[in-house]
Amino acid sequence: MQYDYIIIGAGMGGLSAANFLAKYNKRVLVLEKHNIPGGLVTSFSRKGVHFDLGIHGLYELKEGQAIPQFMEFWNAPQVEVEPLSGDLKCFIDGKEYDFEHGKVRESFLMQFPKNKDDVNNVFDMMETINSEMFSGTEAPEPPYDMNLLQLIKFGIRTKKQRPTFMKYGNKDAYKVLDSFTSSEDLKTAIYSKSPYPMVFMSFAYQWGVYGKNYYPLNGMQAIPDAAVEGLRRLGGELKLNTEVTDIMVKDGQAYGVKTQDGSEYHGAVISNASPQFTYEWMTDAAEKEKMIKAISKRKIFEPVAALFMSLDENKYDLNNLEGISILSKKDYRVSTEEYTPETAPIVINIYPKREGDKFRSLVALVPISYEYHNEWETEAGGNRGEKYKKLKKQVEEILLERIGKHMGRDFIDAVSYYELSTPVTYERYTYSKNGSFMGWSATQSEYGKYLKQRTDIKELYLVGQWVFPGFGVAGVMASGYYLAKEILKGEGIDLKKDFTEYFTSDRL
Ligand SMILES: Cc1cc2nc3c(=O)[nH]c(=O)nc-3n(C[C@H](O)[C@H](O)[C@H](O)COP(=O)(O)OP(=O)(O)OC[C@H]3O[C@@H](n4cnc5c(N)ncnc54)[C@H](O)[C@@H]3O)c2cc1C
Repeated sequence: MQYDYIIIGAGMGGLSAANFLAKYNKRVLVLEKHNIPGGLVTSFSRKGVHFDLGIHGLYELKEGQAIPQFMEFWNAPQVEVEPLSGDLKCFIDGKEYDFEHGKVRESFLMQFPKNKDDVNNVFDMMETINSEMFSGTEAPEPPYDMNLLQLIKFGIRTKKQRPTFMKYGNKDAYKVLDSFTSSEDLKTAIYSKSPYPMVFMSFAYQWGVYGKNYYPLNGMQAIPDAAVEGLRRLGGELKLNTEVTDIMVKDGQAYGVKTQDGSEYHGAVISNASPQFTYEWMTDAAEKEKMIKAISKRKIFEPVAALFMSLDENKYDLNNLEGISILSKKDYRVSTEEYTPETAPIVINIYPKREGDKFRSLVALVPISYEYHNEWETEAGGNRGEKYKKLKKQVEEILLERIGKHMGRDFIDAVSYYELSTPVTYERYTYSKNGSFMGWSATQSEYGKYLKQRTDIKELYLVGQWVFPGFGVAGVMASGYYLAKEILKGEGIDLKKDFTEYFTSDRL
């Protein structure tokens, strides 16, 4: 069957590209291997409890922000949201700290009385980075679309307009924290919001949007569901339970895909899976080898294991808690590869209670590497047999024990159901290499080195967290916008102009 574009994967990157192209009358087909769309933004049910795969809340769901704007441009239904309004609790080597919703700086000042100046300096710096990040942030051109002169001009302008962001934002978090305070507890408390090795702007962002995040009334699944409805309205097609096994390439050009059941679909190909898998599926052996080699040395953002738990609030009162972190003073300098279930930081996201829910849904995110215990004891052929199950059980017990030690036995007794998802599960589920949930590593030496949407193979494109402008739901939706912009440019269509005019004319 002939299409203009075949999109491998209904993650938010793939769905975004599909919607933008369908809006301009392209015949698009999205093929998704799973039985629901969304990739890393899906929800599922266990024992009558609703769980989300990992995302807790999103600032970009706010009216006027990227997600509702994209949805509106596509004519997709808007996602109904509620603000998150809970407090945070943090244990640093057993010592408890509490951060009140809407009063983050005050909470820090109260609990770090000896470091008041440090707290104020760090928060001033984070607030400035945030306001510089969000002010006048007209979407940048992909850097690879700029010529040298444009790049230099852009660099100078950015330095002038965003001096604090430029000074601290792209540095490793631990270096910035070290330069602001000698209090190990304070550094660790700031790191507790998102304990992964990353550039500092992520922490400024995390604390900046804490208290301003939104959650969809129907769970995270509402986001891809709305995008799919938008696609349907625009005449695009989605086939679920359809795994692509081959990308057909001839004379340096992609011309279609083959699926597991042997069907062929012809058209240009856009892959939402990670590039490592995408290149594997190419039928041209020489090109495949070359392209895999070119990215083989790049570092990937370390994944997480997720312990999904449901909690009976009749047995344990969560009060107004939205998150709990358990970590140790040295963690802000440790790289994920070094962690074990006994030592890794634990961040528990507590989801809002939904109407009719008997239990609260909690997800503990724990950075443990993909390679842990020989790739989690996966056997030949990727089989996850008895050894895998046994190891999973062990890790579950260790994590529950550690959580119980901090939150008390009552908390653990109130957990009615739990199950661990490992990085191997995340990889198997989405074909995101090593189960990465952010794409490439985001440390200072690697941050920002995204792949181009256009690959070296004609008519083979990439979309999602591995290409510009990178990870996150809004990020991957923007990657679909940039890809469509690039494709449509060839036909004289200016997507940026259309998109900008759509919103300015609407607001007049
Ligand atoms: C625990 C966790 C916490 C997170 N927290 C946040 C957060 O706070 N804020 C934020 O913005 N983002 C967060 N993210 C990250 C965000 O979810 C991802 O960056 C983003 O959703 C990735 O989207 P994507 O389109 O690149 O790919 P994916 O979501 O990985 O989608 C790829 C899709 O392609 C499909 N596919 C792959 N191969 C094939 C094939 N051969 N045939 C058919 N289909 C295929 C997969 O099944 C999948 O549906 C978090 C993610 C996790 C897991």
